[in-house]
Amino acid sequence: MASSCLQHTRISNSPSPTLSRSISNSSPFRNLNLRFRRPTRPIPPRILRIRAIDAAQPGDYEALIKDEFERTTKLKIAIVGFGRFGQFLAKTFIKQNHSVLAYNRTSRIDYSHIASKLGVLFFDDPHDLCEQHPDVVIICTAITATESVLKALPVQRLKRSTLFVDVLSVKEFPRKLFLQVLPVEFDLLCTHPMFGPDSAKDGWKGLNFMYERVRIGEEESRASRCDRFLRIFEQEGCDMVEMSCAEHDRHAAESQFMTHTVGRILEKLKLESTPINTKGYESLLSLVDNTSSDSFELYNGLFMYNKNSMEQLERLFMAFESLKKQLFGHLHDVLRKQLFENAEGSESSQEKIILPKLIQNGSVVESSQEVQ
Ligand code: NAP
Repeated sequence: MASSCLQHTRISNSPSPTLSRSISNSSPFRNLNLRFRRPTRPIPPRILRIRAIDAAQPGDYEALIKDEFERTTKLKIAIVGFGRFGQFLAKTFIKQNHSVLAYNRTSRIDYSHIASKLGVLFFDDPHDLCEQHPDVVIICTAITATESVLKALPVQRLKRSTLFVDVLSVKEFPRKLFLQVLPVEFDLLCTHPMFGPDSAKDGWKGLNFMYERVRIGEEESRASRCDRFLRIFEQEGCDMVEMSCAEHDRHAAESQFMTHTVGRILEKLKLESTPINTKGYESLLSLVDNTSSDSFELYNGLFMYNKNSMEQLERLFMAFESLKKQLFGHLHDVLRKQLFENAEGSESSQEKIILPKLIQNGSVVESSQEVQ
């Protein structure tokens, strides 16, 4: 406890009768010849003595207001899964003065070092993390690992009313899992920030943030804790989109899964910048940039854990096939016309028909082929 600072101390200038009486013969001060003289004129009493300037006083309303402000605005947030996206979120939480804790399974990477650089308190034991009693626990692990990570968390060590949040890129799966695995006392919020370290490297302004309040207790403190968490994203300028997890998954399979699929296909082509790039080509290059740094684990999760993704993949194959048919059909018409025209001429001359460059099974035949 800090010592008190500004004390209203009245210091009397008259000799203290208590003091003179207390110097007895046995006292070590008996030879000091302490004599007290009555002052000739009254000295005004000193009423304030400053002992420290940084400690809160019982009546220090500024400190009380500050405490109340922090209690009602700041959160203690625990991030479970401190990978690429977990670290990315932590930076903004820290910037907004929330207190951030993190846990990651033991791995090759020295997460504690990364955490200390960011100002995050790192734990490599989930029991220690939970014993810190965070207000919010965010699940930020690979989609494919979420079930095992959640089931292994010692949730009995948390406060009974902890708010659980997930940021997985699929939504129906974690929603069901939370409802199945977590105690009924916990509040549940499913979210998907529709951006990542690449697409939001210049800030979150104008980027979509999807959420569904799955289960939030009726008490005012619970509702306000959930609002405070959402306000982090609002404050950064995100467009807040409240929608059901099921609706999210339908839209995300068409938009996000498709984006990642095309990005990954293009990445396999090893596209390079040319001296005559068109705007369209440049957007293809940036699509590759925006998707290729994400882990394959993430992409695989988008496919495996969103029931709508398979249908979208099939639609993509069908669209490709139909485009190919359209092109080849056109080519076939041209060739057939050429074949018959030449055949009519060759009846007399018996010349060989030469085909132009043919495309077979999707690959270009470099040299022209002779057809008998
Ligand atoms: P990720 O590859 O999806 O997840 C990496 C994290 O999961 C790391 O902490 C990793 O730990 C952990 N992990 C992987 N396998 C595990 C296992 N078997 N057991 C325990 N932990 C395991 O990459 P991410 O980009 O960081 O994404 C994290 C979450 O955020 C995902 O659910 C993703 O859908 C979501 N999200 C990502 C983005 C984005 O742009 N990246 C955007 C929105 C939402 P190790 O480091 O030890 O492997």
